[in-house]
Amino acid sequence: MTITQTNLLQIRQQIPSQVTLVAVSKTKPMPLLMEVYEVGQRIFGENKALEMRDKHEALPKDIQWHFIGHLQTNKIKYIAPFVALIHSVDSFKLLQEIDKAAKKCERVIPCLLQFYIAEEETKFGFDLDEVNVMLNSTEFLELNSIEIAGVMGMATYTDDQKQIAKEFKQLTSIFHLLKDQYFSHQSNFKEISMGMTEDFPLAINEGSTMVRVGSAIFGSRNYNP
Ligand SMILES: *Cc1c(COP(=O)(O)O)cnc(C)c1O
Repeated sequence: MTITQTNLLQIRQQIPSQVTLVAVSKTKPMPLLMEVYEVGQRIFGENKALEMRDKHEALPKDIQWHFIGHLQTNKIKYIAPFVALIHSVDSFKLLQEIDKAAKKCERVIPCLLQFYIAEEETKFGFDLDEVNVMLNSTEFLELNSIEIAGVMGMATYTDDQKQIAKEFKQLTSIFHLLKDQYFSHQSNFKEISMGMTEDFPLAINEGSTMVRVGSAIFGSRNYNP
């Protein structure tokens, strides 16, 4: 058993079976991904389109690739044919471009709406007003090659557990609000993607359905894009 495999199995023991574990493999070499693949991990998260395309081409085809980073519209085409879920839709423009790319591939791409819940200035994401405007627009109704599968958010990078819990609670309440108002008849609207290495147990307590864990599995990264 390698260190990476031991790490993965330990993380999995801390996650209830109904919560999905996304192994965040950004910047990590393919042999490390294969190590966790060999102990059953099938969902990987990447935040660079070209890196994800290359890994998808080289690795087993039953891997589900989740895109978790800021996605530039000119890069969508590299991942549109195979991406299983885009966690990080942060503008209507991006959603429209994903829809176009999905249409060209004759498929529907599941997407999460990324919400801005942290106190930091730098994080990407919608606020609730923007999403209400979008979901009420006729242009939104015209998109039929995307499917909104839920919400995603990142908490402030802080030691203050209360602050983090507050932000996760906020995302969970946004999820329920949207579910009630717009998606009550859509069983596919079901994901709350929140929680990373430092805060995933807290996120699960606050209702996360999907955690994105990188360094606790693969070790720390040389750079942190
Ligand atoms: C890098 C990254 C993660 C994983 O971070 P760790 O702290 O290494 O677990 C999760 N979500 C997003 C959006 C990321 O960019």
